[in-house]
Amino acid sequence: MAVLPILTTGTPVLHQRAARVDRVTNDIRALVADMTDTMHEAPGVGLAAPQVGVGLQIFVWRYESDEALHQGHVLNPRLILRGPWKGRFRGEPEEEGCLSIPGFRYPLARAHRARLVGTDLEGHPLDIAARGWLARIFQHEYDHLQGILYRDRLARKWRKEAEIDIAHSDFINTRDSWTPGEDGQESDFVTEFDGAEVDNAEVDNAEVDGAEVDGAEVDGAEVDGAELDELIDDGDNHVRENADPTVDDNSAGSGGPSGTPRDTQV
Ligand SMILES: [Zn+2]
Repeated sequence: MAVLPILTTGTPVLHQRAARVDRVTNDIRALVADMTDTMHEAPGVGLAAPQVGVGLQIFVWRYESDEALHQGHVLNPRLILRGPWKGRFRGEPEEEGCLSIPGFRYPLARAHRARLVGTDLEGHPLDIAARGWLARIFQHEYDHLQGILYRDRLARKWRKEAEIDIAHSDFINTRDSWTPGEDGQESDFVTEFDGAEVDNAEVDNAEVDGAEVDGAEVDGAEVDGAELDELIDDGDNHVRENADPTVDDNSAGSGGPSGTPRDTQV
């Protein structure tokens, strides 16, 4: 077991697009194992390779909903998103956090459904239809592989607040990384968290590089939303067994404003 240092925002590798994994080596296998250990120790529900200083398209997740435990890893993922939004990310904002911005939470609207496609360490294809918080985790981690942090997607009001908070964070400004266990847990960094106010109104998220923030542009052309709908709703067993229809934006508890902040960090 090895717990790796987690880089904090401002470190270049976090803000660059990650490279594809061409070949699975023992180093890659060890990296996935160490990333998983690091995520557990943080604790967090997801972790992407750039967060531990490796610019490769890999992320891991572990999220327990009321009904099921979802965990795994993916290499070279694609993500196909599905509403509700109108041509852009819109919907109910939920408080999100990031292990690379320790101690902070801000409301962010995400697509309610996401289909994750990629491969695992054995080269087996992966195809997971997710909803609610699992879909949010996939979007957050996929963004990491594009060099996008959730702070980049915040609606103007929250982004402004985040920039001020981060600029005044002694920890983030004096440390390039923190090591779970050695430096405590991510929740230890939360000093003033009192549950940020979350409007029920729809929130327009900030634009990130124009087209990239548009959900339809996130590999949407390869498999359109209609197909995802069918895969989820028509009883297709292969996809359905991976879906968690019980998870929705309101019932995923641990991520909501009244939830435990430590459970929401990715
Ligand atoms: Zn993150």
